[in-house]
Amino acid sequence: MLTNAPKGTKDMLPQEAYKWRYVRTEFAKLADRYGFRQIDTPVFEHTELFHRGVGDTTDIVQKEMYTFEDHGGRSITLRPEGTSPVVRSFVEHKAYADPQPTKMFYDIPCFRYEKPQAGRLRQFHQFGVEVFGSSDMLADAEVISLGYEFLRRMGITGVELRINSIGCPSCREGHRKALRDFLRPRYDELCSTCKDRFEKNPLRILDCKSPVCSDIVKGAPVMMDYLCDDCRDAFEQLKENLDAMNIEYTVDTGIVRGLDYYTKTAFEFVSNTGRAQSTVCGGGRYDNLIEQVGGPSTPGVGFGLGIERLLLTMEECGIDIPNEGGTDVFIVMMGDKAKKYGLGLVSELRARGINTQIDLLSRNIKGQMKNADRTGAGYAVIVGDNEIEKGIISVKVLAESRQIEVPMDEITEMLCRELGK
Ligand code: ATP
Ligand code: MG
Repeated sequence: MLTNAPKGTKDMLPQEAYKWRYVRTEFAKLADRYGFRQIDTPVFEHTELFHRGVGDTTDIVQKEMYTFEDHGGRSITLRPEGTSPVVRSFVEHKAYADPQPTKMFYDIPCFRYEKPQAGRLRQFHQFGVEVFGSSDMLADAEVISLGYEFLRRMGITGVELRINSIGCPSCREGHRKALRDFLRPRYDELCSTCKDRFEKNPLRILDCKSPVCSDIVKGAPVMMDYLCDDCRDAFEQLKENLDAMNIEYTVDTGIVRGLDYYTKTAFEFVSNTGRAQSTVCGGGRYDNLIEQVGGPSTPGVGFGLGIERLLLTMEECGIDIPNEGGTDVFIVMMGDKAKKYGLGLVSELRARGINTQIDLLSRNIKGQMKNADRTGAGYAVIVGDNEIEKGIISVKVLAESRQIEVPMDEITEMLCRELGK
């Protein structure tokens, strides 16, 4: 117990950290390319924010939040998703008074009490982007394009973009009525949560994970058939924009998304590798959320992309992730003069951007060489007192088991040249 991480959580171990670093760096670089600026908000918020933002009838709020009272008697919740906190910050800092739109991205842990399985954890991590202040479908296309381009750059193939429109409050009323009419004959069979949703928010029933409810909703009326002119035009505009950007998609009228705040555009990037948790990225438009959280009426659109699922998909696609944190050079030193020289050289190489290690246990030469191999270094620089006297140092190219002799004053330049630094 004491030595087990809590269920549904995972350590990011040193041997896999480079993968996380790679995708995080690449995501931030791409977000820069699109002009999104990074934001980070606290890991916890006032519980009320998620009741208002995510919605009282969602699974997240009803079943999955980590909520507790702090010592001051406040109800606090660990962030289950990224959008509501960013909206809270936007309102708190009156960023709506700045020229719009506001384009932001983040890289955050989220917490949901769910049943852990492959691609589903209780602490998971998300990349997210948000565009506030534009109701133009150019913003939706920009957000989708960023997700599309990121997955493409990561080398992922076989991910499908699915889009839908889930309308706005005015056209949703007609759909709700049709949905209730459709569900009424089998009301008694619905799970207790969905019985409650029947009056409050029947759309949520479409997203219920219980097998009975999923069966009942088969063939239910779809929102797409109830869109008002404005929502229909917007959806057409979105498709035109995606076509112009050469982004392939399929229309999937079954996408409803698990959060109440979505309006109009809803989309998902789904991998076809056959895993159950196949949605790598999901998002959409939320034109009423900012107002709901207490700000002025401001439209928004964004997505969340699960980093664990991204890495799983990359693994399934056999993508080799570059290990940029690896050791380039290992300095093996024997003797006092060699040690003095070696410690100077290690600083010099590090200053030149070369990842360099020495043996911190002062082992014998065999032990140091073994350690050099273990680090995966490309080169071992072998320094003994003899070498110092002669002014010639041995460099072993470890992968090739080849050894070369290099004059002492050329060693740094030679390694920089070899390593492209
Ligand atoms: P799902 O339908 O798979 O439960 P969701 O609709 O609840 O996903 P969002 O709230 O839209 O997911 O979150 C965006 C992304 O975050 C998801 O597409 C997924 O990649 C990831 N994600 C969501 N929940 C988890 C979880 N419990 N563990 C790992 N990743 C998750
Ligand atoms: Mg979910």
